[in-house]
Amino acid sequence: MTQRYDAIIIGAGHNGLACGAYLAKAGLKVLVLERRHIIGGAAATEEVVPGFHMSLASYLLGMMPKRVIDELELFANGLEILPCKGIFHPTDDGGAIVVHDDQAITQKSFARLSRRDAESYADYNAYMADATSVVREMMFETPFDPSRRDWRSYKDMASFAWRYRKIGGRFFRLADLFTMSSYDFLSQWFENDAIKCALGYQSSVGTFGGLKSPGSAYILLHHALAHDVGVGWGFAKGGMGAVSAAILNAGAKHGMTLKTGAPVAKVIVKDGRAVGVATASGEIYEAKLIASNAHAKLLFEKLVGAEHLPAEMLKDLARFRTFSTAFKLNIACETLPTYKAFDAQACGMDYPDFTHLAPDIDYMERAFDDAKYGWYSKRPFLSPVTPTARDNTLAPKGKHVVNIFGGHAPYELKNGVWANERENFVKTVMAVMDEHAPGFSSSIIDMQVLLPPDLEEIIGLPGGHIFHGEITPDQLFFKRPVPHYADYRSPVAGLYQCGSSTHPGGGVTGIPGRNAAREILKDWPRLKRQAA
Ligand SMILES: Cc1cc2nc3c(=O)[nH]c(=O)nc-3n(C[C@H](O)[C@H](O)[C@H](O)COP(=O)(O)OP(=O)(O)OC[C@H]3O[C@@H](n4cnc5c(N)ncnc54)[C@H](O)[C@@H]3O)c2cc1C
Repeated sequence: MTQRYDAIIIGAGHNGLACGAYLAKAGLKVLVLERRHIIGGAAATEEVVPGFHMSLASYLLGMMPKRVIDELELFANGLEILPCKGIFHPTDDGGAIVVHDDQAITQKSFARLSRRDAESYADYNAYMADATSVVREMMFETPFDPSRRDWRSYKDMASFAWRYRKIGGRFFRLADLFTMSSYDFLSQWFENDAIKCALGYQSSVGTFGGLKSPGSAYILLHHALAHDVGVGWGFAKGGMGAVSAAILNAGAKHGMTLKTGAPVAKVIVKDGRAVGVATASGEIYEAKLIASNAHAKLLFEKLVGAEHLPAEMLKDLARFRTFSTAFKLNIACETLPTYKAFDAQACGMDYPDFTHLAPDIDYMERAFDDAKYGWYSKRPFLSPVTPTARDNTLAPKGKHVVNIFGGHAPYELKNGVWANERENFVKTVMAVMDEHAPGFSSSIIDMQVLLPPDLEEIIGLPGGHIFHGEITPDQLFFKRPVPHYADYRSPVAGLYQCGSSTHPGGGVTGIPGRNAAREILKDWPRLKRQAA
């Protein structure tokens, strides 16, 4: 029997759930259909080794703005954040930098390498806080279409310019963030390469690029954007699936329903309008509107089909860069890594639960060079995190979970195939881990290795891209995912996009879901009339 809803959401990633929760809060009857057996997409907790529950893909919460957390009452709906105090960053001379929540501790660790850089840090921090406050607001914008010559576009552009007029002279420095490499950007304040690496590391995270690649300064900013909840980076208690679960709870309170194990095979389009979906098992669900959390390439190329879409749009979509070099190892182990360079007192923390292994800029660039020429990094950069240092719900008593995120492992190898290289690759990662934390690899019980093709297959991320596609300035705002359809709408009436393929891109933020819901609610009176 056909079932009818106001809104169907394709995909229970955290953005699909957020979009659904906002719509349900506004009174719509919402159904979320998820292809996997669990919710969360890239923000999921899964038992990947018997007895060990792990953040499958994303591993730290820090990009979700307070506005989303408050509006969806995520703390009341079960979310608990266990903050990391800072990032521990061993350097080549046997010492370490720590980028701590406490500015004075960070400066002290910088002073060992450069007094000047220690002094510059306060100025840099103040600049970044100011820049993030401006750009954070832009994340909540619906991108306008500058190519259109109609009244609505002129009005949207004028309104945008008016609202951001207070940027004034800061415009020029903000323009730097959207155009420069993070290396050049950081060099405006800092002289020491290890310090620039510690601060710029995140501009290489999830990106097929290095700190010297143009546009990477924006990626640095993107990672700093939320951080307005009173804590920096932190673990979600119970793993990142707990974030998605809290969003689901927020929606369920308003009647939102969920079906897992229900892959959507087709969006049903009648007379140019999306009127429902068909699942792979042949069930039909009808709705007044459909919103897709699935990647834009999956939605348009597979679920909608070329016959309903402009040829130009499909060409633009094919150009959307999703080739990824990011990997993740989810490890069950007997003991936590013991880092040679860690000194609890100097670092201002009892244990380094968030670490960056990449001593300086040259190391990061060489890791990228290997990938640039088609192979995995001989010495990859790694971010090991140890949630069980804070959270006792993930592993059997006395045992631990270590998640290692890193780069670079290209989606496709030149002159080789991953099936023959997986084992060598893991050895390469472990050699770096053991160098910094001797003996760590011998404490491993079992592990899950996620290379970009695995992320594509398991989570549905084309190219394995952790952000649904590069978050470089050429793929943001009115160009995300494609020109003319960056306002969460699509060429098919009643079909919307609500995932990270849209502005402002990836990260566990909930913002694409929130922004899409706002646009849908603007159209809702018309959609209701048309469906009547
Ligand atoms: C390895 C890795 C590490 C990361 N680390 C971090 C981190 O530490 N912190 C951070 O903030 N961000 C991190 N990210 C990025 C972040 O996790 C993602 O950008 C974000 O979770 C994407 O959310 P989303 O809801 O937009 O899309 P997704 O999570 O991709 O959700 C899409 C959902 O749609 C479902 N779907 C697809 N097709 C269909 C279909 N046909 N029918 C039904 N359902 C369908 C999928 O199964 C999935 O559940 C990481 C990502 C990865 C992969």
